[in-house]
Amino acid sequence: MPASPIIHRTVDDLRTAVAAWRREGHRVAMVPTMGALHSGHLELVRAARERADRIIVTIFVNPTQFAPTEDFGSYPRTEASDVAKLAELGVEAVFAPNANEMYPAGYATTVSLAGPAIGLETDFRPHFFSGVATVVSKLLIAGFPDVAMFGEKDYQQLMVVRQMARDLRLPTDIVGLPTIREPDGLALSSRNAYLSAQERQTATTISRAMRKAADAIRAGGDVEAALAEGRETLTAAGFRVDYLVLRNAETLAEIGDLAQEPRRMLAAAWLGKTRLIDNIAV
Ligand code: AMP
Repeated sequence: MPASPIIHRTVDDLRTAVAAWRREGHRVAMVPTMGALHSGHLELVRAARERADRIIVTIFVNPTQFAPTEDFGSYPRTEASDVAKLAELGVEAVFAPNANEMYPAGYATTVSLAGPAIGLETDFRPHFFSGVATVVSKLLIAGFPDVAMFGEKDYQQLMVVRQMARDLRLPTDIVGLPTIREPDGLALSSRNAYLSAQERQTATTISRAMRKAADAIRAGGDVEAALAEGRETLTAAGFRVDYLVLRNAETLAEIGDLAQEPRRMLAAAWLGKTRLIDNIAV
């Protein structure tokens, strides 16, 4: 049986453990998550193992990145099975604080960004990136890892975290890893558990519509026409589309010169009560 990771509930306990590792000369990686771990999260852990010999996985459903109308209350919380999966991978530590440890009474500090945080998700979830940036900065400052792993699944979030780490001169390398998908193309997400059997089938449309639009753009087709067709495909399948757009892959600004700039297609759409996001390189 693999050893279970040590579960730390407080920043002080985590700091004490990391300080001991540092005295022994270990390299430390952090993998921030909200739990309900799936193979996408576990790939981040495997990639962390290639870059460090001590791994902290954080499990914290962060209240400040949810609006009052969103799914904070119903978000899946499966700590025991998460910890068992992490034990299989030999993870040394889990940091799973409660909300009061992260945001005690009187808490008053948030991190807010412009740049890559402008638009896209922010147009629909204005609270979201200040919540993410605040909690990620708190987690990175709690553990001061050498490296932290994030998924391209949440592409705008990855760009926001990179910008924040650069701007605050955090001493942590931010590593982004490719999206892990189901065999039918659906990006793995803890929120896929909300989908009914029928919605789960329909959900594949999002990656299919994006790939088709990306192929058309690569073949020299009109960008707006390809994106409009993608949106129509999603709407016809029963989605309510928040956005399906093409952006500069590094700045997330609108594309000026199609031939010269790195390109990323990003989408967010509702299927019933579930909001799905996805993105691909173009
Ligand atoms: P979450 O628990 O959903 O907040 O995600 C924690 C981390 O796992 C984030 O960096 C996500 O981008 C990453 N992640 C989530 N789903 C996937 C996936 N399908 N492939 C790769 N990384 C993922």
